[in-house]
Amino acid sequence: MEARNLKVMAVSAHPADFCSRAGGTLIKHVRAGSKVRVVWLSHGETNESQLLFQQKPDISLGEVRRIREREAFAAAEAVGAEGRMFGFGDNPLRMTAERVEMLAGEIADFKPDIILTHWKDELTYASHWQTAQAAILAAQLANGSWDIRFFEPNIGTAARVGFVPDHYVDISDVFERKLEALRKLAAQPRLVPDYTTCNRWRGIEIGRPYAEAFVRWAPKPVVLDLLEP
Ligand SMILES: [Zn+2]
Repeated sequence: MEARNLKVMAVSAHPADFCSRAGGTLIKHVRAGSKVRVVWLSHGETNESQLLFQQKPDISLGEVRRIREREAFAAAEAVGAEGRMFGFGDNPLRMTAERVEMLAGEIADFKPDIILTHWKDELTYASHWQTAQAAILAAQLANGSWDIRFFEPNIGTAARVGFVPDHYVDISDVFERKLEALRKLAAQPRLVPDYTTCNRWRGIEIGRPYAEAFVRWAPKPVVLDLLEP
């Protein structure tokens, strides 16, 4: 299959996760002609919306959800992706069997070639870990793609949760566009400086200005006729 005809789905626990970890990669996929759909399982209305509560202590959860949903769709639009908000509730996200089936339905509907989601061993952040487990199970329930790529765990925790990238995407030429998308997530202003550092560090690892890092889930062994250099 030609790379430009791919369908790529990002399964994101919270509004910003898909963009901070994989926004540059998704921008490049859209540019190459891929169709990208972002699925958010929650509005990130607690842990990842602290600024909104600081600015307005009596803000209602409903208002926070509305603000975060607007930001999420604005970031997806800046990436060139379509979006689907499940809004299952956060802190922690609870992926019941019924909710996993709903996610499986979404995968069956979109039929992605590649699924991007959270690191499967991010045990330090229940909502992220739950999202990864749910995405893997839902992909299997949907008879969907087994090509699942895990993106970065929460910034600063990669070493603790054993996230060692096995492939990278050079996002240097779209890095400014990624920052524009991240700025749409105004409730999390730390994203821009933090992911500038993260993507620069991943770039250093591969000798490029900026990169995003992934681990490819490989449930089936790679079989070759001969070793390839
Ligand atoms: Zn998150």
